[in-house]
Amino acid sequence: MPLMKAIQIAAPGAEFELVQKEIPEPRETEVRIKVEACGICHGDAVVKEGRFPGISYPRVPGHEVVGKIDKLGAKVNGWQIGQRVGVGWYGGPCLKCDPCKRGDFANCENFLTTGISFDGGYAEYMTAPMQGLAAIPNELVSVEAAPLLCAGRTTFTALRNSGAQGGDLVAIHGLGGLGHLGVQFGRKFGYRTVAISRGKDKEALAYQLGAHNYIDAEATDAAAELKKLGGARVILATAPNSKAISALINGLAPDGQLIIVAWQNEPMQISPWQLLGGRRSVKGWTARPARNSSEDTLKFSVISGIVPMIEVFPLEQAALAFEKMVSSKVHFRSVLKMDGDV
Ligand SMILES: [Zn+2]
Ligand SMILES: [Zn+2]
Repeated sequence: MPLMKAIQIAAPGAEFELVQKEIPEPRETEVRIKVEACGICHGDAVVKEGRFPGISYPRVPGHEVVGKIDKLGAKVNGWQIGQRVGVGWYGGPCLKCDPCKRGDFANCENFLTTGISFDGGYAEYMTAPMQGLAAIPNELVSVEAAPLLCAGRTTFTALRNSGAQGGDLVAIHGLGGLGHLGVQFGRKFGYRTVAISRGKDKEALAYQLGAHNYIDAEATDAAAELKKLGGARVILATAPNSKAISALINGLAPDGQLIIVAWQNEPMQISPWQLLGGRRSVKGWTARPARNSSEDTLKFSVISGIVPMIEVFPLEQAALAFEKMVSSKVHFRSVLKMDGDV
């Protein structure tokens, strides 16, 4: 059997290991993808740490995948060999549960998760269900399209469904893989866009990404600064830091919403009065169940000139690329490129 290179996690808590695996064969409704690029996301940590129920190991992580279809399952239709496609966190509905049988795929009870329910894109090849694929526009190169499939799709859909309208003040908390795209989307949606991060060194980058204002949460009280600007209609919290997120609530305008998209471990502390005064709310958001939201994100990025800022690594350096993402040492997204020509 022909072999490929892949990075796998052998067991919960294990390190990334480079292995030779058999090139997978697509099942009837799957395609095989020759992977060109795969972004590295905080979500991949759940595979490494075993924080997701029911993962079977060894598992190849990676859910910001772009590559070309190189083999079709017998029942695949609508996709062609050679076509460039993307696969994000949601690998597709199960097609077996009750909502799926009713055609309500968005509410599938067993959504397949790329790199968790099945092997992901830290590999030269992967297979993926056809119902989870997105077509990649020609204008985007693969390494830049990849982060749009999770970091981009999450922030794009969170803002697009937030109720904020052009001219509203919208704050993006955190300037990492998600936040740096959130600032660009916010600006292009016509919001008065405020970037909140820690330290002076992020200020120039925030303005470069299109922010109208930058708030240094290390040097100032970010909520008080937002209040001075009139209060935020929406705060999009992209940094996984519960204490910092809790501290932002007082910066919301009346009826303002704090929307959380980053994975949290620590509990948040909120006084009921913070919500009652001004009818403020806190909610979580994932890109599910917006169908076609990957393609919408990609198309919007093309027409509005949004591109992720990336640092590219060869597959063999996945552990280093992951570590730089976790420690925020990468501006702003680590992306694995499979052909080695980095
Ligand atoms: Zn992700
Ligand atoms: Zn289902």
